[in-house]
Amino acid sequence: MAQSIPAKSERAELISRDPATGEQIGRAPLTMPEEVARAVGRAREAQPKWAAQSMADRGRVIMKARRIILSELEDIALLISRETGKPISEAIAMELTPTLDLMQYFARKSESLLSSRRIGIGQYALMGRSSYEIYKPLGVVGIISPWNFPWATPLDEVVMALMAGNAVVLKPSELTPLTGLKIKDVFDRAGVDTGVFQVVTGDGSTGAALVASGVDKLMFTGSVGTGKRVAEAAAKYLTPVVLELGGKDPMVVLDDANIQNAARGAVWGAFANSGQACASVERCYVHESIADQFVKEVVTETKRLHQSVGTDKTADIGSMTNEHQVRVVERHIDEALDKGATALTGGRRVPASDGAFFEPTVLINVNHDMEVMREETFGPVLPIMTFKTDDQAVRMANDSSYGLTASVWSGSIARGRRIAERIDAGTVMVNEVLYTHGIAQTPWGGLKQSGLGRTHGRAGLLEMVSTRHIHVNRFGFIPDLWWFSYTPEAGQLFRGLARRFASGSVFQTLLVLPQMLRRWFER
Ligand code: NAD
Repeated sequence: MAQSIPAKSERAELISRDPATGEQIGRAPLTMPEEVARAVGRAREAQPKWAAQSMADRGRVIMKARRIILSELEDIALLISRETGKPISEAIAMELTPTLDLMQYFARKSESLLSSRRIGIGQYALMGRSSYEIYKPLGVVGIISPWNFPWATPLDEVVMALMAGNAVVLKPSELTPLTGLKIKDVFDRAGVDTGVFQVVTGDGSTGAALVASGVDKLMFTGSVGTGKRVAEAAAKYLTPVVLELGGKDPMVVLDDANIQNAARGAVWGAFANSGQACASVERCYVHESIADQFVKEVVTETKRLHQSVGTDKTADIGSMTNEHQVRVVERHIDEALDKGATALTGGRRVPASDGAFFEPTVLINVNHDMEVMREETFGPVLPIMTFKTDDQAVRMANDSSYGLTASVWSGSIARGRRIAERIDAGTVMVNEVLYTHGIAQTPWGGLKQSGLGRTHGRAGLLEMVSTRHIHVNRFGFIPDLWWFSYTPEAGQLFRGLARRFASGSVFQTLLVLPQMLRRWFER
């Protein structure tokens, strides 16, 4: 059996292996805590010079990195495929293309997204006051990332952090260190100072050292359990964290949906990347009136999928990336089958294969007492339940501790949107699945146990800056009404302000204007 979990060698290295074959691809250093601290120190020294560059200059560097990636697209896709087991085409479609789009978006738009913003301050403006927000770099941003999208997930955040003027220290997953080092290679060649962007390869101990290193913000993507540990450790230093965690994303197929397209969407949403996406379709609810036809289409589409090594140009599904995750999938399926579920196709590792290949699996007769409907499976498993009413579908979709994404399928956009707005998730799609992490402009992040904070879009860029409020008083030559001294007349005025000024109405405020003028000019 191929072991895809890299081992620490005697020389404190990670060994990266192809999970489809067990073959060694390369080695990367296991960075020790003191080296992580030194990397953060170097980043802190290098950051002011990077931040002093204009946004346009920083954008040019990102665009240069983008050109390097485009010129090496095939080699990078091959590396991603070999480290993760995913098909090369999928590495291009789901990792490289969206990131190339995100790079041009933030290279061009960060300046306007982070330009200062005026804030309306209501009636305080009548007193000659104004307010605006400005956005400054945080300093050093630490990024800790998982193995399932080893290129797109960290690179997107690196681009946003750099555009905002920060230095970055990235700790990629121990299963995909070479992809992390390739990101470093691209930015080095694009001209980013070696201190401004650094990669520390290693395992959880290296990640923990980054959490304890005094970075100004942590962007963590990974499992709920590790996310909680990271948040707890970061709290000791009051380091702010963004947590992009797991999901148990529901797909709701209403009775008026296009059945064939919904079935195809379910199959791609559940089995792309071997189901190892945080936004994979992890549970499906279909209206009972169309369930037979929908399930039949799903099974037919699933049986058509070609499972092979990622370098096979016709592979739809490759191997899973992580032996540990294969065992989670087996546990969930076994428990479901024991409790009465039926596997219509799949349900086991691919026979006669040494790699981490797991057959795409469709389950019916499942219920919410089963782990496969409650816990993140993170593998190629699509459990399907039926419902009778829209309300019941919403209840079932929301019956989860997770809330990353969800989807609703309907022939009526208005009905789809109505249901979508009732589902508790960071992103809810109508007639779509899985792909919105690929949209640079829209916020990404979860509710409930799926995480805290956002990445992507303006909301994501704002996570990379410190927001400062600048307040100006143009009447700097007279004391404020509420300053000392608190005379009985002042008390009367304050009561008037509570009733009139605080109503937000200019007309009401005019009623206390004589008292206000008296206090202004008496002092
Ligand atoms: P994981 O939590 O095991 O590891 C994530 C990263 O944290 C790795 O780099 C790991 O080395 C590091 N780490 C481990 N222990 C640490 C510690 N104590 N302190 C600091 N860092 C530590 O997750 P994984 O198995 O690599 O990834 C799969 C998970 O990631 C799934 O749950 C998936 O849903 C989630 N994920 C979420 C998103 C999202 O955007 N919400 C995206 C991709 C993956």
